[in-house]
Amino acid sequence: MRNISFDIAAIAILVLILLSVIVRRSISGRINKIFLGAIITNFLAAVFDIMSVYADTYHNDNIVLLALSHTFYLIFHTVQPVLYALFTVNVLDLGHKINNNKSLEFAFSAPYVLVFLLIATNSFTGLIFTLNGGIYRYGILFNLLYISTALYILIAGVVILKNCKVFPKIKIIGLLSMAGLSIAAAALQMVMPQNLVECFAISLSLLVVNISVQRPEESLDTDTGLYRHSAYADKSKRSFRNGKHWHVILMNIANYNSIYSMLGYEETAEINKIIADKLVHLNKTLSNRAELYYLDRGRYRMVFAEKDRVFAETYATIINNILKEKIIHKGFEINLSPVIVLGRCPEEIESFKSLMAFGMDFHEKLHHTGMVMLASEVYNPNEFQVHNNIDAIIENALENKKFQVYYQPIYSVAKGRFVTAEALVRLIDDEHGFVSPDTFISAAERSGAIHKIGEFVFEEVCKFVSSEEFEKLGLDYVEVNLSVAQCMHGDLADKILTTMKTYNVPPNRINLEITETAASYNQRVMTDNLNRLSRAGIVFSLDDYGTGYSNMKRVISLPLKIVKLDKSFVDEQHNPKMWILLKSTVKMLKDMGMEIVVEGIETREMVEAFSDLKCDFIQGYYFSKAIPKDAFVKFITESQVSIT
Ligand code: C2E
Ligand code: MG
Ligand code: MG
Repeated sequence: MRNISFDIAAIAILVLILLSVIVRRSISGRINKIFLGAIITNFLAAVFDIMSVYADTYHNDNIVLLALSHTFYLIFHTVQPVLYALFTVNVLDLGHKINNNKSLEFAFSAPYVLVFLLIATNSFTGLIFTLNGGIYRYGILFNLLYISTALYILIAGVVILKNCKVFPKIKIIGLLSMAGLSIAAAALQMVMPQNLVECFAISLSLLVVNISVQRPEESLDTDTGLYRHSAYADKSKRSFRNGKHWHVILMNIANYNSIYSMLGYEETAEINKIIADKLVHLNKTLSNRAELYYLDRGRYRMVFAEKDRVFAETYATIINNILKEKIIHKGFEINLSPVIVLGRCPEEIESFKSLMAFGMDFHEKLHHTGMVMLASEVYNPNEFQVHNNIDAIIENALENKKFQVYYQPIYSVAKGRFVTAEALVRLIDDEHGFVSPDTFISAAERSGAIHKIGEFVFEEVCKFVSSEEFEKLGLDYVEVNLSVAQCMHGDLADKILTTMKTYNVPPNRINLEITETAASYNQRVMTDNLNRLSRAGIVFSLDDYGTGYSNMKRVISLPLKIVKLDKSFVDEQHNPKMWILLKSTVKMLKDMGMEIVVEGIETREMVEAFSDLKCDFIQGYYFSKAIPKDAFVKFITESQVSIT
């Protein structure tokens, strides 16, 4: 009698895996269903294998029992490699390639359909096995079963090797181990036909996969029970890479931060769970077509297959309405502000980076209509392409000298004319057009390119200031911005002083602006830089005053002579309390002996208001935007007569 202990062990292992799948509730979803299918069919194969041994040994006169047990064993056994290949393809997110391509689907299923038909009709043909005299023997086409098995294992192997880079190593090893174990078991069984090891080997490989690949807890968010950020990022990255098409609902709760600061961590986690439950419930009524994710800080994502556009639209509209209803939680009344965008990838949102960058803060940037918004209307690919490629754009601009320095005139209230100007860097990219300094300055600070940009700007300003053209304008000095990263660089003072020497620029012709945030850092390198430059006679301005929470004690210890009131401060001048604040701020700064520049002045009324407040200088679009050097020279020359 053949040894059935391996089959019994296989059954025990499969029951354990099944229990773990049930306990972990990883049953829904295509991948889980295939995995479940593999467990059940392998279980049945082991049962029929034992039955066939039993029939062969004790009932070889019962031809029906013999035929049935062998037939069913073969059917369930030969489907294993098919499920393995299918599982692999789906785990690697390539399932859509087969589903969307009829001929590929046919080619994929044809070998197994043929094998299945041959086994099912074997009682009439005897092509796979014969039972003459109650003795089981291979038929002439039996080897086709090996060929089919080899074919599916080969498909899985090739797919794994081609995609192994985008998948964690442990999962790739888990998938490959399935192929390895199946081949080893088939070889072993050929050598030792008495030991029925095949089902056992497959159950072992399913165990490995259960441990290494099927680990939902690793990608589930514990508070909400939805898939977490990393799962969303992995999935989206692979889908873009594999040319998949899909719909995504991006939902950010715009007032999440206020809810969080009002309720704290635990209560907010409970609110998140309430939202997640509503998403899950709605998904159930739509036959679980969406994959649901919770990223963080009130950001949810629902992913739909390409064919499910209508479901995605319905889902987005319903959830928008549901979430706008107030939630009563432990006596608190909570009104959520969901901002929802429905997009199609990659047609509307073209890349992984853009999807992530847009998803980050669209709820702050978009005009909130209260309705579901469409990515085709609110997403601007150019803006995100600039965002995503900003380092390359800066690199290219430095290499091809695309940066330019513009000047914005600054008006002296006391003298009634323009006395200085602020140098502002500009970048006009050949492909993307005007790129805002707010975008490229912060990127350049991160990448370190700010130092080269800063050197370029400073050199341009020195060239200009030392020219005869500048002398004729009768301006006192030019203001140049320094960012935090520049101030923290050990070479800054040396470089500035060297450039000034090269162009013969006296220190009173230059004023350096540092921002309020930079000024509040207490960092030795920065303090040394500022003190050295100050000793050399250069005057500093404190830029963007009123935007940050500065450490005033630290700010007043710096060698600052001018303070620039930020535009956001000025914008609220019609608010009576703000006006009082402005008035006392101006008085306080004046008492400290500071000079004051107001930025962002756009109307005549504002010019008058701030002149009355005794601010010293005025800068803003009312007079002029920042303009190229030649236009600036022309502007000052023509306007020196009288302006206001
Ligand atoms: P900032 O130094 O506070 O510059 C003033 C900004 O306000 C400029 O924006 C200017 O164009 C804008 N502005 C001036 N008047 C008005 C107005 O009346 N209305 C409005 N709406 N805006 C006005 P810009 O040129 O986009 O620069 C943004 C920021 O980028 C600057 O703020 C500065 O922090 C930084 N930046 C610009 N050039 C340089 C540079 O050469 N080096 C460094 N490190 N930073 C720079
Ligand atoms: Mg400035
Ligand atoms: Mg400013």
